[in-house]
Amino acid sequence: MDYESRFNLAWQLLEANRVDALVVTHLPNIQYLCGFTGSAGALVMTSGRDVLFTDGRYTQQARAEVRVARVEIVRTSALAAAGQWLAKHASLRRIGFEAAHLTIAERNALTMTLRRRARLKEAAPVIERMRLIKDSDEIARIRAACHLGVGLFGHLLEVIRPGVSESQVAGELEFSARKAGAEQMAFPTIIASGSRSALPHGRASAVAIPARGFVVCDFGVILAGYCSDMTRTVHVGRPQKEARRVYEAVREAQQAALDAVRPGVTVGEVDRSARKLLRKRSLARFFTHSTGHGVGLEIHEAPRIAVGQTELLRPGMVITIEPGVYLPGRWGVRIEDAVVVTERGCDILTPCQKDLITL
Ligand code: ZN
Ligand code: ZN
Repeated sequence: MDYESRFNLAWQLLEANRVDALVVTHLPNIQYLCGFTGSAGALVMTSGRDVLFTDGRYTQQARAEVRVARVEIVRTSALAAAGQWLAKHASLRRIGFEAAHLTIAERNALTMTLRRRARLKEAAPVIERMRLIKDSDEIARIRAACHLGVGLFGHLLEVIRPGVSESQVAGELEFSARKAGAEQMAFPTIIASGSRSALPHGRASAVAIPARGFVVCDFGVILAGYCSDMTRTVHVGRPQKEARRVYEAVREAQQAALDAVRPGVTVGEVDRSARKLLRKRSLARFFTHSTGHGVGLEIHEAPRIAVGQTELLRPGMVITIEPGVYLPGRWGVRIEDAVVVTERGCDILTPCQKDLITL
């Protein structure tokens, strides 16, 4: 990872936003800027001195991971130490902070520490904007995470059977993920069977897989810091005609959205392509969430692939395409792939069968 270039670019963008320093408190942003993967820290960026504050649990780790900034191990909270450091540097008068990642209490404490010497200023989300476009190292890592995820699907097909609980299925999947090298799951695994498949975010529960019906399986891993995300819906027992029809409609809607992905297209247009297909099948009102989201260091990051969103797709963005249809109280279907936007269209990072699988 080229942390040096990231730092330089971030700093250029910050100067254009007229701040003398930025206090970075969002851990994924800290990781993006300097490589630190600990669970507590604050990074102060200035024109010359970049300092990462963290505590004694991370002494060795921070020194091993962070080359681009100076590391200060502190006994207070990282943010308090950052505030005290800023208060000592009189030339830093306009201090940017990440409004989306600072509590009111933290902001008040920072204001107290700085007193009248400096002014806190809400910074533009420049790091999030930079993270929208993945560099080749990042794409390689996301691709590897997705590859690991796809590899788990075959195992999933072996463990899904009537009478086995959803959480047992999730447990088996997660165990194979760890054995294959995943650092952790990217989010709580969704195994939603029978009528629970109508819940768009039905976390695996104690409910047993019924003898007949859909099972929505949505899972992702973290590998080398980066997330994967994919969903496949399978059917236990013979599907009825309506179930087949809805499954095919979701599959076509997903394909329509995938076909729409290319540079220069707005994310809203991609969302619209999926909805348009489902409207033709009179199913649009059962598609109750957005079409997708960005994936990277975080499982949900910019851009949102949703109605009315105007962000333009650019090469290097990694997004999911995941339309679904949920018939309340009955059942639901979702199909999701992660893709990277290329110069001409997109490259699917989660290649895996989409013909309806019956178990
Ligand atoms: Zn997912
Ligand atoms: Zn997703």
